[in-house]
Amino acid sequence: AAYGQKQKEYLEKQGFQVVLNDTGKPFTPEVFAKHSRDAAGIIVGVDQMDAAFLEKCSHLEAVVKFGVGTDNIDLNVCEERKIQVGRCIGTNTNAVAEFTIGLLFSSARQIATNAQAVKEGSWAKPTGVELYGKKLGIIGFGAIGKAVAQRAVGLGMQASVYDLYQIPKTDLDQYQVQQEDLNTLLKTSDFITIHVPYTETTAQLIDKAAFDKMKDSCILVNTSRGGIVDEQALYQALKVNSITAAASDVFLEEPPILEGWRKDLFQLPNFTPTAHIASRSQEAEMNTVQRATELIVEYLE
Ligand code: NAD
Repeated sequence: AAYGQKQKEYLEKQGFQVVLNDTGKPFTPEVFAKHSRDAAGIIVGVDQMDAAFLEKCSHLEAVVKFGVGTDNIDLNVCEERKIQVGRCIGTNTNAVAEFTIGLLFSSARQIATNAQAVKEGSWAKPTGVELYGKKLGIIGFGAIGKAVAQRAVGLGMQASVYDLYQIPKTDLDQYQVQQEDLNTLLKTSDFITIHVPYTETTAQLIDKAAFDKMKDSCILVNTSRGGIVDEQALYQALKVNSITAAASDVFLEEPPILEGWRKDLFQLPNFTPTAHIASRSQEAEMNTVQRATELIVEYLE
């Protein structure tokens, strides 16, 4: 990554020895494991920190997630070993919310698909739909769900939200949204966007039965986590046009292995895949590296 140099120097001044991955590419699991073996603290992105990995990190006292989703970290093991785990709450909220709105527009007007076609010599003129006046169903009304709601309402959409907790009336009024059960949201939304963490209860939350409930005209956007949407059910729904379009920034396996039906999914014109980049704005990266640095110092001191 092109950031982190200033924070590395700051940490060194505090007396820490720092290994910074500034290669612009993720470490391989082997290199990550090698650097982690003696580490007291780790700032981690999406690299796997499962039980087997953690077992080899016998000096580890603190982990800070460079982001919010901690599904790549075995939290049970961390709790048992009293390894502190922190998240950079709120630092990439705007980035993900803006990217989500971007995917809604892109899918509604086929922007990404048309750009690709024009580059290949086509002059196709697809007719899309507007976001204005449409109903957006938001699954998960946390920091990002709220930021998406604000922007959607600003665009003239009607926003409904589904969440496990009873949303206080003051929040519903402030964000101009209504709370619905999942069934109603799936059946009545023109657009659906997902902002829940990956947990046992959200794994495959959007499965074949969920797609069957959606309108034929529905457009689905997922910038939360792979595995929350059943990718094979998504492929079927898009192939037979039981929904109109979908965009996804996240996949069960990243990078996805494009074989069999998954290869066909990625070639569908009504599917827009991106490479887990929703949080990648310069502003979010600066905020996150700063926050992660503060947290790791706080935990290790
Ligand atoms: P958050 O913790 O503020 O909000 C999550 C919300 O989901 C909470 O309101 C929670 O009550 C709700 N929820 C949890 N389980 C649920 C369930 N089974 N049904 C309904 N609602 C449920 O988190 P956030 O900051 O809004 O981020 C949401 C997720 O987005 C993260 O967990 C992360 O996986 C993902 N994310 C992705 C990217 C990216 O680059 N694509 C970047 C940041 C975050």
